[in-house]
Amino acid sequence: MALTDDELDRYARHIVLPQVGGVGQQRLKAASIAVVGAGGIGAAAIPALAGAGVGRLTIIDGDSVDLSNLQRQPLYRTADIGKGKAASTAAFIADRNPHVAAAAVAERITPANAAVLLAGHDLILDGTDNFATRLLVSDSATRLAIPLLSAAAQQFQGQVALFRGHEPGRPCYRCFVGDAFDADDCGSFAALMAIRAIVGISPDAAGTLHLFDGASLTWRQLRLMADPGCRTCGSVDATDR
Ligand SMILES: [Zn+2]
Repeated sequence: MALTDDELDRYARHIVLPQVGGVGQQRLKAASIAVVGAGGIGAAAIPALAGAGVGRLTIIDGDSVDLSNLQRQPLYRTADIGKGKAASTAAFIADRNPHVAAAAVAERITPANAAVLLAGHDLILDGTDNFATRLLVSDSATRLAIPLLSAAAQQFQGQVALFRGHEPGRPCYRCFVGDAFDADDCGSFAALMAIRAIVGISPDAAGTLHLFDGASLTWRQLRLMADPGCRTCGSVDATDR
């Protein structure tokens, strides 16, 4: 997927990085990412993903912009209050980078629509704020064989992990959870992880949970183990992968 002169100029700072280069930039252009939830995580990740030149972004969010969102969701302006988040985000992306195709899905993701909405993407970025939706998105990602970038934050704690639960011996999000948590921030780090996964920068980092404590300014990494009894990724027959 060739880059135009305009794109070569726009992404020059990316292309000079040996880990990205022209090939990596073309991978980003060819890639599609589904962002589930355009709240604290999504609204922070999307400007970075659009700026980086991910070719297609699908924004799935059934909510409208609320006054209380403006404090930490930099994508939204005061004039957006009351408008749909998916449509506002798609308009923002078009302004930010005309080379990115944005699709707005103003629906809440449910067991009935998840597979249809998520199929056909190269990566899913989950920034939703509840446990049930996170498991639904993870199970769908595993069944569709799509890598899942899961990001969450609560107060000063942030967690980001890349999952490839469809690959043999690799954990999925369901292998990991046991504690429910609610989401807020760390979208920029999630965007970086998404770009690394698309470009193919090593180490791959799938199955490692990155924990950030904004109060003590420390990072921790936890290696997650695949659960052989996991009802989603453990039940996938290796011959079907
Ligand atoms: Zn699993």
